[in-house]
Amino acid sequence: MSGDLATCIFCERVRSDPVLVRNELAVAFGDAYPVNPGHILVVPRRHVLDYFALTETEQAAVWQLVNQVRHVIDVEFRPDGYNIGVNVGAAAGQTVGHVHVHVIPRFKDDVVDPRGGVRWVVPSRACYWAS
Ligand code: 5GP
Ligand code: ZN
Repeated sequence: MSGDLATCIFCERVRSDPVLVRNELAVAFGDAYPVNPGHILVVPRRHVLDYFALTETEQAAVWQLVNQVRHVIDVEFRPDGYNIGVNVGAAAGQTVGHVHVHVIPRFKDDVVDPRGGVRWVVPSRACYWAS
């Protein structure tokens, strides 16, 4: 997983401050490799790897920005739905070692069959409705 405190790309982003929305404890900015137009990351200002290691106040600040970001995306991209997700740990797919919540706008027909959404983190068991 990339990013100790000294080299963390998200800490750099927090410091340089070209962000979409911010509050005292968290900021939000666009994902550099968006899975859909409008894909935003919400991150705590403090360098913490594991979502569950944030204080409850930091978690609340992060989710407050998720709600704000949703309104910005709604206006700019008019999505039909959202996936919101946090990868916690390398085993769960986390690749950047600074907590981030993915806010991913979804559009009708952006995939052939969207059923299951975040269940597709484990593809072999995603499709429960066919079993
Ligand atoms: P993870 O796999 O850790 O849940 O997600 C890491 C996310 O960070 C990915 O969606 C990836 O596109 C995004 N990302 C990687 N490098 C950069 C970067 O330099 N800037 C920004 N804004 N996003 C990045
Ligand atoms: Zn960091």
